[in-house]
Amino acid sequence: MSKRVVKKGTYGFVESQGENVLKVDTEKMRAVRLMFDLCLDGMSLGQIKDIIDVQGILYPAKYKKDTPTGWSLAEISKILSNPIYSDERYKIISTQEFKVAQRMLKLNTRVTGKKIEISALVGIAVCSECGSFLVEKSVSSRGRKYLYYICGKYKKNGGCSAHKIAVLELNRRVLEILQYQNMDMLSFKELTREMAIKYLERVCVNSAGDIESVERNT
Ligand SMILES: [Zn+2]
Repeated sequence: MSKRVVKKGTYGFVESQGENVLKVDTEKMRAVRLMFDLCLDGMSLGQIKDIIDVQGILYPAKYKKDTPTGWSLAEISKILSNPIYSDERYKIISTQEFKVAQRMLKLNTRVTGKKIEISALVGIAVCSECGSFLVEKSVSSRGRKYLYYICGKYKKNGGCSAHKIAVLELNRRVLEILQYQNMDMLSFKELTREMAIKYLERVCVNSAGDIESVERNT
């Protein structure tokens, strides 16, 4: 495997004096990790910007010039799209996390409310009919909120069909499959987002909510 070259000026790397190599800046890499975590939690670029601005994480140019500049969405997007952070030499995030992050960027999902939580299979479960990723939809009924996965294409423009299935139900079915294949997982009561990202590449779901195929991470 050919090694990726770190481009000069890549956020999270510093030039070490006298040597022609780039070293990891731990503090900035922590910020990179945070950006990826927020992205995987389903936050939009704007929401990620708000959080890192509040945390006082400085835009790279701040170190070069005296004028403070805030983060631009383009800069955040550039970081989240750069595979160097999943490179085996640095391992800021795993390859699978990077892949899901790329899907999350395309999905442009938004988390409403204060609590950052996104259903386990967003960016992983796909509609078997049109191939779009399933996205979340919450439905309120008699003061209670119910969460469903629905086809992303349907949510966007009414194309395809709803493919509606309760989040808890699909998560339960997927967990059962994982447990069937791996006894070590028997103690888990529910499918968490961390588990889904770690173990699953793709879960294909048909319009009846039945799982057609499960691709595991290798
Ligand atoms: Zn569809």
